[in-house]
Amino acid sequence: MLDTWTLLIIDDCAADRKIYRRYLLKDPHQSYQILEADCAEEALALCQKMRFDVILLDFCLPDMSGLELFEQMQQEILETSVPVIMLTGRGDEEIAVQAMKQGALDYLVKQNLTQDVLQITVRNAIKQSCLQAQLNKTQERQRLIATTALRIRQSLNLEEILDTAVTEVQQLLKCDRVMVYQFAPDSDGKIVASSVESYRTVTLCDRAAAREEAGEQGAGSREQRKERGQLITYSPPCTLHPAPRPLLPNPQSPIPYNYEFGLCNCLSLKEQFNTKANLVVPINLSNNGNPAPKLWGLLIADHNSGERQWQTDDAQMLNEVSVQLAIAIQQAELLAQTQAALTKEKQLNVFKSQIIATVSHEYRTPLTSILAAASTLVKHSQQLDESKQQRFLGIIEQKARYMSKLVDNMLLVNQFELEKPKIKPILLDLLQFFSDLIEQERETVGDRHELIFQITGNNQGFWGDRGLLQQIFTNLISNAIKYSPDGGTVEFHLIGKESQVIFYIKDQGIGIPMADQENLFQSFSRGSNVDTIPGTGLGLAIAKACVDLHGGDITLSSQVGQGTKVTVSLPKDCPFAP
Ligand code: ATP
Ligand code: MG
Repeated sequence: MLDTWTLLIIDDCAADRKIYRRYLLKDPHQSYQILEADCAEEALALCQKMRFDVILLDFCLPDMSGLELFEQMQQEILETSVPVIMLTGRGDEEIAVQAMKQGALDYLVKQNLTQDVLQITVRNAIKQSCLQAQLNKTQERQRLIATTALRIRQSLNLEEILDTAVTEVQQLLKCDRVMVYQFAPDSDGKIVASSVESYRTVTLCDRAAAREEAGEQGAGSREQRKERGQLITYSPPCTLHPAPRPLLPNPQSPIPYNYEFGLCNCLSLKEQFNTKANLVVPINLSNNGNPAPKLWGLLIADHNSGERQWQTDDAQMLNEVSVQLAIAIQQAELLAQTQAALTKEKQLNVFKSQIIATVSHEYRTPLTSILAAASTLVKHSQQLDESKQQRFLGIIEQKARYMSKLVDNMLLVNQFELEKPKIKPILLDLLQFFSDLIEQERETVGDRHELIFQITGNNQGFWGDRGLLQQIFTNLISNAIKYSPDGGTVEFHLIGKESQVIFYIKDQGIGIPMADQENLFQSFSRGSNVDTIPGTGLGLAIAKACVDLHGGDITLSSQVGQGTKVTVSLPKDCPFAP
């Protein structure tokens, strides 16, 4: 089927009009609806009533010249894009040049007019004006997209970026609502921004659940809900095509069926976002040089009120904004990462300063003792009897051990701060492990302390990292003993449960003031009642880091003068095993 174009012939000569009409109606490539005017007045009246795709204008009319009429039409009626072809007489080239300068698209010399020439000239004029209109539209669209992109990219804060994007796109597309949906790595995604407030915090799953509660659909399993498209999970088989659907010949034409743009094969997504009514495009971030982009989320334009047929143009605009949005998101994420790294760096610097302060402080006392004991031995060994010499040597050994432990602890904490060490769990015989550990402690503890070890429940099937467990429990037991300077019992209970093991370490020592308890798991934190009991404040921080690596939990309850109870619970199946 040929396109039909509306054409106006303005000429006072009826015979000429007849010839032009005959020539044009014979055009095999184009079909025309032709109207005629024999004077300027009639032509103006017609142009006011309807829109023409092309106008043939005689240079000489009874009531005014063709040029004057053209000027009047331009000023009062015509859109500049309507092509006008001037008809001049032989030798009137000057008039033709003037008409072209004024904006006429072409001119024809009446005397040379043949059927072919007229047909080709009119066809070209229409084609050129269509291209011009298309170009204007594209330029306008690019301008709008550029403005939108500029506004979106003015901020480096993700929330602001998304809010600006939805507001701007809603204005750009003049639709009811625009939303941004973000995929979550291991769970369902959610709407993270919406141009309509009530949508902001409601996840699609919440809406599905609400619908279920309202009895719209019977409650079902997660799988069933997923099948019905109420739950969104991005899984690899869902291929998202970054390349848009090929351009339809006429950008004005509506998209024939679904409005999704590159959401091929994503059945659940299509259903979820009602891609029969909504326009949905992916937000793809560049993927570290990987040619396949990383799907971050979706940009959704929703129009419920009235009949709206989305055009290819709308889809393209949304897609182009989505590209700009993706760049803005990526920049914001990069900034957030850099800021996080900077904060971490600052924390490390503070930590290092604390280490220096602790080293200089904590090393001085034992070093002084070692130096004093050593110089006494050097200077007076002749006068000292065997037992005194042994006592000085003992002091040197004890203080050197303390310093060595201090260095070990600081290196360990430093390592934890820099990067998480890898956990190497093995299947452990807990009874054997703790019997050995308690035995070891009993050897060093004096007779003022009694160490009680109790084990109950099912302790089979526990996976743990031997080194990390040793760190946890030697620190806790040594604290229980160290902070019970008057002696007493130290109870160690191990209770095996179905899927976890619980440990209690309970002493009757000095206890910890309430105000100090909150921060004790942080490095270099010590209770205000430690008095002269030595310590660096690292043991509990190390124990906590090791418990975290096991996916467990550590808590502490204490009363000053009554004693302290530390509880550790560890899952039998270590979740962070490589
Ligand atoms: P170290 O690094 O040598 O272990 P530390 O014992 O001071 O030094 P943590 O084990 O981290 O460090 O303990 C932090 C603080 O918590 C201690 O200084 C002490 O005030 C308090 N604390 C810990 N366990 C007990 C306990 N069983 N009884 C009383 N206070 C305790
Ligand atoms: Mg300690």
